[in-house]
Amino acid sequence: MFKDLIKYWWFWLSVLFFLLSYFWINCCKIEAEAYYYSRFYVSFRQVFELLFSSIKFPLIYIWIGVLFFVVVFVFVRFLIKRTWSFAKSILFLGCICLFHFSLFYILWGINYAGKSLISRLNLKGDYNECKFYFELDSLKARLIGLRSNITEFPKLNEYNDSLKFELEPLVHSTFVEFNIGKALPLSCKFIHPKGFLFFWGASGVYWPFVGEAYVDAGLHSIQMPYTMAHEMSHVMGWTDEGECNLLAYMICKNSNKLIYQYSAEIALLRYMLFDLSVMDFPYYKLFRASLPNLIQSDLDEINININSYPEFLPWLRNYVYDIFLKSNGITEGSRSYSYLPKWIVLMKERGLIKR
Ligand SMILES: [Zn+2]
Repeated sequence: MFKDLIKYWWFWLSVLFFLLSYFWINCCKIEAEAYYYSRFYVSFRQVFELLFSSIKFPLIYIWIGVLFFVVVFVFVRFLIKRTWSFAKSILFLGCICLFHFSLFYILWGINYAGKSLISRLNLKGDYNECKFYFELDSLKARLIGLRSNITEFPKLNEYNDSLKFELEPLVHSTFVEFNIGKALPLSCKFIHPKGFLFFWGASGVYWPFVGEAYVDAGLHSIQMPYTMAHEMSHVMGWTDEGECNLLAYMICKNSNKLIYQYSAEIALLRYMLFDLSVMDFPYYKLFRASLPNLIQSDLDEINININSYPEFLPWLRNYVYDIFLKSNGITEGSRSYSYLPKWIVLMKERGLIKR
C-alpha cells in the first residue's frame, strides 16, 4: 500500500504544493497590498530583474521547452516501464495544471484581491448618451490634430527595446501619481512568430510563470505603444483588464510622443465605435465615414491585420476566459475591457485627465 503511494509521488507533491499555496493565498488575500504586494511582489520583481534582465529573448520559450521536455520524458518513461494507462496520463496532466494553478496565484494572482483603481478614485457618476456623444466629438478633434502631425509609424525593428524603455518611466510616474504602486523593474518583450498570441485571442499577455509580459510581434505598429503600456501595467501587479486599459491610456497620453498619444486615442476610438455601432448603427456608419481618410485607413489596416491571423476556437476561449475573470472577482467578466470610454468621461469630470 505504502509502496503504491510512493509510486505516485508526483501526485502527492502537487497536492501538497496546492495545499500550501492555498493556505498562503488565503492568508495574503486578507491584506493583499500590505502582505502580498509590498512584502512579496515587490521583492519578486527585484530578484527577477537581478537574475534575468540580461536575457534578451522571451523566457516563455524556455518555459514551453521545459514543459514539453517534462511531458515527453514522463510519457516515454511510462511506456518503457510498461506502466502507461489512460487514467495515469490524465492524472499526470492534471498535476501539471494544479501545479501551474498554484504557481499562478503565488507569483501574481493574489493581486486580484487588491482594492480596485475605480474604488480608490471613487469613480462614480452619471454616464449617459449625451456625455458619450460629447466625448466622441472631442475625440475626433484630438485624433485629427494628432494624425495631421504624424507622417509615419515606426516598424517593429525600429521599436525594438526602445518602446519598453521609453514607456517604463511613464508607467512609473502614472502609478506614483495615483499612489497605486512602486517603481518596479518591468519586463515586456515582443514575441515571435507573428500571430502567436493572436492565435489564443490576445494581442499581449503577462506570463507570471516567467515574470514577463509579451506583445505579439504581428500587432499593427499603431497599437504597439498602448498594448505594451497595458501589459506593463499588469507587470506592475495590476490585474483588472479594464483598469489596465485606463492606465495604458493615461501612460500613453502622458508621453510627449505624438505616436504614443495617437495609439491611446485610437484604442479609445475603437471601443467607442463598437459602442456606437450597437447604440445607433446608421449614425455609426455616418460618423466613421466623416473621419479623415488617413484615420479611416488606419482603422481599416488595424482590422485587416488582426483578421489576417487565425484564432483557436474563439467561442471556447471567450467562455473559459470569462469564467476565469469572474472567479477572480471581476464580476463583469470580459466586458470589463470595454469600460474605457465611461471611465475616461468620469475621469475628465473629476479633472483627473486633461480635456
Ligand atoms: Zn490585459
